[in-house]
Amino acid sequence: MANRLEGKVALITGAARGMGEANARLFVQEGAKVLVADLLDAESERLVDELNRSRRGHAEYAHLDVTRASDWGNAVARAERSFGSLHILINNAGILNMAGVEETTESEWQRIVDVNQKGVWLGMKMAVPAMRRAGGGSVVNISSIYGLIGSGGAAAYHATKGAIRILTKTAAAEFAPINIRVNSVHPGIITTPMVEPIAHVFRQKIASAACIKREGRPEEVAYGVLFLASDEASYITGSELVIDGGYTAL
Ligand code: NAD
Repeated sequence: MANRLEGKVALITGAARGMGEANARLFVQEGAKVLVADLLDAESERLVDELNRSRRGHAEYAHLDVTRASDWGNAVARAERSFGSLHILINNAGILNMAGVEETTESEWQRIVDVNQKGVWLGMKMAVPAMRRAGGGSVVNISSIYGLIGSGGAAAYHATKGAIRILTKTAAAEFAPINIRVNSVHPGIITTPMVEPIAHVFRQKIASAACIKREGRPEEVAYGVLFLASDEASYITGSELVIDGGYTAL
């Protein structure tokens, strides 16, 4: 099936690389106009150039630090100015710190909360007025399996990913009357630059503990995000889509 996002405008955070990049590529392929938003200017500009060379390319880049309200204001205004409206928000930007409860410093805790948790709240706060003007839309918040289960490390990461899960559900209730759906996605271990610093043996251990004994690919998550973003998911809100090769099934 193609054209699953025909006529839609999407803002994707953390879209310079990894899963956000895979989302941007798939969304353009499916007919969306995409605002690539990230801190990495050079990588994002390169991606946007490439997307615009494709047959269906309608992409622009906005420098957006998800912790800054003024950046959000500029990005949302840019989407409306360049593409006419905003229907889809993918809150994908996130950072990982492996430190456990005792090792996490106060400043590191705050940094992870600011990006992973505050960033998702601020994104919805700043984008919803534009989505309301567009007549409604879909928000997809990228959490993690570590928003559902523990692992014995990455304390701040777990805390923020769990917070995203429940924030998603209350936002779903708040925004249903204005025709905006809000869902969370919970990937298992996916091969992206985020997991490169993690020791190979640890990655192998996680991958082999899933029913499907390998790491996931960014596109395999992007197809789930696409479904939730599209009108095909018109009766789905406040839900959590786990894409983890069956890791949490066992
Ligand atoms: P990645 O590190 O490859 O990409 C993350 C992107 O977010 C980068 O382009 C980075 O520049 C951007 N970013 C970081 N801080 C930002 C900020 N303050 N403002 C704007 N952009 C910012 O990571 P990824 O693996 O593609 O992860 C994407 C999302 O998926 C994250 O929320 C991550 O927590 C989540 N996730 C990843 C995995 C995995 O195994 N890779 C598993 C579960 C969930």
